Parts: sequence; C-alpha cells; structure tokens
Amino acid sequence: MTYFLILGVRDSKLKEKRLNANTSCSNCQRKSSFVVSGEASYFHLFWIPVIPLAKRLYAECTHCGQAYNGKKNFPEDIKRALKEQPVRRPFWHFIVPAFIAYKVLSLVFFYGYMYFENAKEDAAYEKEEERKEAELATYKDAYLTDKKSLAITPNMETDSISYMLKQDFPFSNYNVDASNVALFSKIKQSTNRLLLLIDIQEKKNTKDALACMLINDFKNKIIETYPNKDFDYYIALFENGTLKIVHTPNQSYSTEYKYSVPMYSFYSQDRFANSSVYNFKDRDAKRKMMLENTKTVTESSTIDTAALKKALMDVTKEFSFGYRFKKASFSKRVEYECQFVLEAGRNVPDEMFAMLELYDGNGPFFNWRSLHGRMENMNKEYETAGMEKLTINANVDDKRLLPASRSPHWVLFYADNSYKYALDFSPGKEGFVGQVILIQPQMQPKFIAKNMLAFLKLYRNKKVPMDIEDWVVKKN
Ligand SMILES: [Zn+2]
Repeated sequence: MTYFLILGVRDSKLKEKRLNANTSCSNCQRKSSFVVSGEASYFHLFWIPVIPLAKRLYAECTHCGQAYNGKKNFPEDIKRALKEQPVRRPFWHFIVPAFIAYKVLSLVFFYGYMYFENAKEDAAYEKEEERKEAELATYKDAYLTDKKSLAITPNMETDSISYMLKQDFPFSNYNVDASNVALFSKIKQSTNRLLLLIDIQEKKNTKDALACMLINDFKNKIIETYPNKDFDYYIALFENGTLKIVHTPNQSYSTEYKYSVPMYSFYSQDRFANSSVYNFKDRDAKRKMMLENTKTVTESSTIDTAALKKALMDVTKEFSFGYRFKKASFSKRVEYECQFVLEAGRNVPDEMFAMLELYDGNGPFFNWRSLHGRMENMNKEYETAGMEKLTINANVDDKRLLPASRSPHWVLFYADNSYKYALDFSPGKEGFVGQVILIQPQMQPKFIAKNMLAFLKLYRNKKVPMDIEDWVVKKN
C-alpha cells in the first residue's frame, strides 16, 4: 500500500488561539476564557499540499473545560469572536493551488487575447480581400478599354510606338500581312512600364513558339528603336481578338491565363510590382557593365550539326549514361522552346537544338525541360542580384569572360554532381561567342572551351572537370 504514501489526505494542526473578544462560558460564566484549536486537512502528492480540504475547530473553556467540537456547534458569541480573530490554516496549504490558479488564469487570458487578436486579423484580411477585388475590377476595366483602342492604323501622334512597329516591323518574316495587324501601346505615367497589345486579325493559329518569337522580336524592335528607354514590357498577343500569349515581367510566358490577369499588373500601383520576382536591381549599372565588357558580335558563327551530333554520340558511347529521357512530345517541346525564348530573350542556341534532337536529355546533359527551367533560374538570379553580389566571385583576370558571377546570356546545358557547364553568349572582349564555361557555386566562372564541339571532345577524353559517378550505368 505504498500508494498511500505518495498521495492521500494529511492533517496539519492549527495554531491555538485565545479569543480576546467578549465571550462568556455558559458553564462557569467566565469572560473571555475560550481557546480555539483544530486541524486542517489537505490532499497531498509527495507530501506537497495540493488541495485544501475540511477544517475542524475545537473550542474549550480554559477555566472549566467546557468544550465544543465543530464550528457549527459553537455558541453565537464564540462564532462572532472568531470573525474578529479567525483561525486560519497555514499559508503553505495554498502555495500549489495558488500556482495552479495562476497558470489557469494566465492561460485563459492568453487564449482570450489570441482569440480577440485573430478575430481582428480575420476582419482586416476580409477587408483587404474586398479592397483587392475592387482594385482588380478597376484594372480589368482599364485593360478592356485599352483593348478597344487596338487600331489597324495607329495614330502617329498619340501612339508613336505602334505607328513605328506598323511601319518597320518585318511582319512578312512571320507570314503575316501587316495590313491585318492592329496595335496599341502606351506607357504608364511615372513608371517605365510599356503596354503593347497586338492583334493579328487573320485566320491562323500561330504556333506558340512562333508567337513567342514574335513577341520577342517586337520587344527587340522597340529596344532597337529606343535604345535609351528602359521599359518593363507588358505584351499581349491576340488572334482575332482572342488572347493567345502574354509576356510580363512577372509572367514570362502564359497561355493559361485566358482572362489576362497577368496584364492587369500593368495598371497596378505597387502591389504587383512589389511582389515581382524580378526587382531589376541596379539595372543601369548592370547594363553598363555588359556594354563595356562584352564582345560586340559582328558575324554569327555557323554550327556543324553533324560533327556536334557525332561528338555527343561518342560521349554517350564512352560513358553510357543512365537517366536518358523519353523525347518530349512535339507540343511540349514547342512549349519549352517558347518559354526559353521569353526567358532568355533569344532563340534556343543552334548547338542545343542539334544536341536535343539527338538526345532529349542524356545523363547530366539537359533535356528540353531543364534547359528552360535553368535559364529561368539564371535570369532570376541575375535580375535580383545587385552589382555588389555580381562582382563577388567574378573572374576579372580572364578577359575571355564577363567580370560577373552571373549573366543572363549564359545557357546552362550540363550539371553533374559537382560541375555545371554553360554556353556563354556574353563573352568578354577576348572571348568567343558560344564558348563553354564552368560555373560552380561560390567560385569564379572558368573558361573551358572555345565552343560546344571542342567541349564535347575534351569531355569525351575526360580532360574537363567531371563528377559523374551516379550518372553512369555500371557495366557488368
Ligand atoms: Zn467555563
């Protein structure tokens, strides 16, 4: 029965008290002759009082011994005297209960407070949602109004950009009759946002990739015509009034948002702009760095696709990579290509086209999907980094390289366990357009080969850094 030792009921004696008040003994008629004593029980755990239980009092006349057991049997004058001189249980009976009461109360207060705060937050959230919805409605109205302004013959005075595009854009390259194209553009006051709406009013279903290149070429034409302007582009391409593709700083490519929500961000004040993935940090400084350090391309190099494919086959024979992917379906391929064009602001490099035609992903060599995905990341890193960050780990000694740790013109095509290789379309003054460079986190980029073909030959002979253990299929 050790159980009773660690918990149970215990009594403690109360301090005896002589009642000074006016009482009189019914037996001996003495005045103020009573002494009150007693005991108080408590429930204990490990002898620590947890719950105060009953208190029993006992009054006795010190003169004649007349006694009363239990408070309810006390004469009225003793009861009255006890009110003035109460016989209290010792304070240590109350320590634990007081502590528990304190804990309970603070919990009650805490949850009460939390509940109140949450209710306040919920109300604020709801209000904010309502505000957003109202705001969005105004953007939608503005957008629809602008869409109505699409014009086959843009006004030279009020819409000079559309006017210029109508005159100078090589529509015939896209098999489009210029007289069937309606345009509208405008610049948002006090920002550098440019809205461009293009509606091709011909019966045709332009392939997505082609539409993306079209958008990209529109962009390039504007950059070429206004080299000093630095716009954020919000471009929407329509076919017979139906939205086909959207291109905004936040939404590089979209055919999904048929309700053209990405375009609303053009009209917004700050909300969309601030949530933008790209915050274009130090854009002018970066542009200057590019301009001053990169080689000006005069001739476009031609790629020997047959030699390239053979070199890639040799690599495959040498290493027999696992993780070979199924060829992407044509429509997927076109989608990836399209995304790449809008991410990179350029077409998929010819080298990559040739290689992806042979293998759509081959060990650590990228497939269509990763080609565009990595491009997106590279660009984001570049756009969000300030000049300071770009110059950390920049290779400033090798004049074949841009003195930066990232470039939006590096096309990553390979990543093994440790090393990443990219085609470099922003080489330094002494570099080569389409050279291959090594990129590693926290390290300076390094020149590896003059072009992809040279790289593949070096790679096949294990003359470049590689870490491909897990990628190779073990031969038995
Ligand atoms: Zn007495």
